Amino acid sequence: MSALYGTYARSPLAFERGEGVRLFSQDGTPYLDFHAGIAVNALGHSDPHLVATLKSAAEKVWHTSNVFTIPEQEKLGQRLVEHTFADACFFTNSGTESIECAIKTARHYFWAKGETDRYEIIAFTGSFHGRSLGAVAAGGNPSYLEGFGPPLAGFRHLAPGDLKAVEALVTPQTCAILIEPVQGEGGVTAMSAEFMRGLRALCDKHGMLLILDEVQCGYGRTGKFFAHEWAGIEPDIMAVAKGIGGGFPLGACLAKGEVAKSMVPGTHGSTYGGNPLACTIGNAVLDRVLEPGFFEHVERMGARLAWQLQQLQQRFPQYIVEQRGKGLLAGIKITPPVREFVARLRDDHHMLCQGAGDNVLRLLPPLVVTEADIDDAAARIAAAFEAIEAETAAKATA
Ligand code: PLP
Repeated sequence: MSALYGTYARSPLAFERGEGVRLFSQDGTPYLDFHAGIAVNALGHSDPHLVATLKSAAEKVWHTSNVFTIPEQEKLGQRLVEHTFADACFFTNSGTESIECAIKTARHYFWAKGETDRYEIIAFTGSFHGRSLGAVAAGGNPSYLEGFGPPLAGFRHLAPGDLKAVEALVTPQTCAILIEPVQGEGGVTAMSAEFMRGLRALCDKHGMLLILDEVQCGYGRTGKFFAHEWAGIEPDIMAVAKGIGGGFPLGACLAKGEVAKSMVPGTHGSTYGGNPLACTIGNAVLDRVLEPGFFEHVERMGARLAWQLQQLQQRFPQYIVEQRGKGLLAGIKITPPVREFVARLRDDHHMLCQGAGDNVLRLLPPLVVTEADIDDAAARIAAAFEAIEAETAAKATA
């Protein structure tokens, strides 16, 4: 009997070590990792630069406090600002905290301007923003809200895709629109560039802020540093996490200077957020992500994965309904129950991946994945479908 909360339907499988795109279980069995800790291990496992950085950082200062200057945090913030739309960052330990900071920043911006009633945020069904009370209210998924008392007020939800319907929800109280450019948990749904540009235009028209949740789709996963770059737009605020720490808990809320400026001492804080150890590792991840050719590699591998999934769909039209996603945030909507299919891939074919909403199989390999790994993954998925086919045929003749 485990001493842990029963909040996860855990597999008994446990891992001892990892190397690149492979994880090794306690009995030494290798697993092909197209899960990457749910889009976290951007550089795979045991990346030599990250390992060396962590070892040397362990002998220096792990933690001080945000009441002191943290040079590693200043450096990471400066580098993020130089490579994005943003002018200022707040560092966190998780995606949820980055979203909380984004919501607070948007609301406080208008409050400080004297628009104290302007706190409503338009958000979208099928999105996932985390599990704090603020983040579940922002996500709006009734099953995550049930049983936890009154949800945080001020969110209006609708299905993504229809700009006129979005505009119809705008009131004088609306301060921002919040969206994942590619919905991850909800079913690997990529927003069109037109929709993203339309949201930007709506925000400009009504003086609202555009908040992007790039916790899952950002940090190179779609083949650009951030997914919104595909639409040629900039947000006002953006939540980042997962890939930014390469496996070390780290997140960030990025904002334009004008928007961030109301967040003065006393408005927000975190004991651990952006501590020296986390930011040293964040800088090491960024060294690799900003290497010339890194995003091009992701784009090429994303195209290879999309091609392989298309081949699979042609071969197994009875099992694959639709192909989804962008770059290395890829998915296929399948007909077999996805939870069982994920377990089958894991237990029988030693491949790790994750389910998503709408019965989608989500493929999230480390961004350093190779063409051979992708071909290997496709072969394992094909073998799993073949096994289902054989079992179905055997049942039919029994
Ligand atoms: N936002 C998105 C888009 C996510 O995918 C997640 C987690 O999966 C979160 C926010 C919450 O991040 P965390 O679990 O690090 O708090």
